[in-house]
Amino acid sequence: MLFSNKKSLFYSILFFSFFIMTACQPDAVEDIAIAPSEPEIREFPLVDERLWPYFERFEDAARERGERVDLVTARISGKIEAIDQEHVAGLCTTFGNARPGSVTIDAEFWSRAGDLFKEFIVFHELGHCFLDRNHREDTFSNGQCVSIMRSGTLDCRDNYNVASRVAYIDELFEPSTVRLD
Ligand SMILES: [Zn+2]
Repeated sequence: MLFSNKKSLFYSILFFSFFIMTACQPDAVEDIAIAPSEPEIREFPLVDERLWPYFERFEDAARERGERVDLVTARISGKIEAIDQEHVAGLCTTFGNARPGSVTIDAEFWSRAGDLFKEFIVFHELGHCFLDRNHREDTFSNGQCVSIMRSGTLDCRDNYNVASRVAYIDELFEPSTVRLD
């Protein structure tokens, strides 16, 4: 009886320490697991938060093409508000060398457009504001626009979609990728 009690005490201790170990481990694992999975949000303090993902994509697209673009350091600002001119989805306002350019996206366009169309317009405006590009109205023989830097006032047909976007972004950062001469 005495022996048996001792034995069960021993087992209790064993069990108890096992319990402590197993009870502690999940916490430790959880701590480690949570820390690195925190999503890293790149912030653009001068830009409307809704535009952040597109500004970040622009930087990523540049990096994928070997160019370093930092829109925070460049102090490009961005806002979403009503643009009075009809059929104008976005604007880039420049101030010469006085201060960095400012992107404005039309609020009504923003409320209706899908992700890819938003990307198209934001990239177009950053093409003006950051890359200093002017409009390019060239047209492929099938009538499609050569560049997302088309003005939209002439005749070429937009063809920005999941399949064509890589080539259009190549042209945005390096116009010579499409030569029509
Ligand atoms: Zn434009």
